Amino acid sequence: MFIITQHQYDLIMRQAQENYPYETGGVLCGSSDGVIKGVLPLYNQAGGDQHKEFGMSADDILRGHEFAKKHGLIFFGVYHTHPNGIAYPSDQDISNNQRFLFIISLRDRYNPEFAAYSVLPGRAVIREDIQVVNDNGITVIDIHTGKPKLSESVSTLEMGKLHTLIDAIVDERAKYPRLSPKNKFEASRFSFNTEA
Ligand SMILES: [Zn+2]
Repeated sequence: MFIITQHQYDLIMRQAQENYPYETGGVLCGSSDGVIKGVLPLYNQAGGDQHKEFGMSADDILRGHEFAKKHGLIFFGVYHTHPNGIAYPSDQDISNNQRFLFIISLRDRYNPEFAAYSVLPGRAVIREDIQVVNDNGITVIDIHTGKPKLSESVSTLEMGKLHTLIDAIVDERAKYPRLSPKNKFEASRFSFNTEA
């Protein structure tokens, strides 16, 4: 099981929405008890179709490890979004030899899904539960395997706030379209299978 603070969870979810319909991601670090204590957002460096692919450079991976070391944390792994895919790792994702994979699915954009997986030898994956806690350590979202959709874990009021935030991001994006930098070099590629 992983535990993440609401602040970091919101940071990741906002990044996911701001980059929609393109994939985005970064690095998560934490302590040995599964508490996520560091988030390093990264630009998508994929040279191909960024709707379907998230790429990190070798420098990004190095920065991720340095970021973890600097804060005395363990490098947990990479998180990335599937703007149109399910919250399940693709063959490409699994082939990156990461111990853990974190995937945010925006297939239902207004009802996102945040999933964590342990990658086992033989490429099998196990879905991990995630608890989102507030600054006082109180659980605000309890993401269980059986209840993956955000709407199943939070109140109608919270969903309403989220939808207002997403609408604001959609409006903002329409006014100022963002261009993400591209880099030819790719050390790791994460993508989703269109058939998945
Ligand atoms: Zn993926």
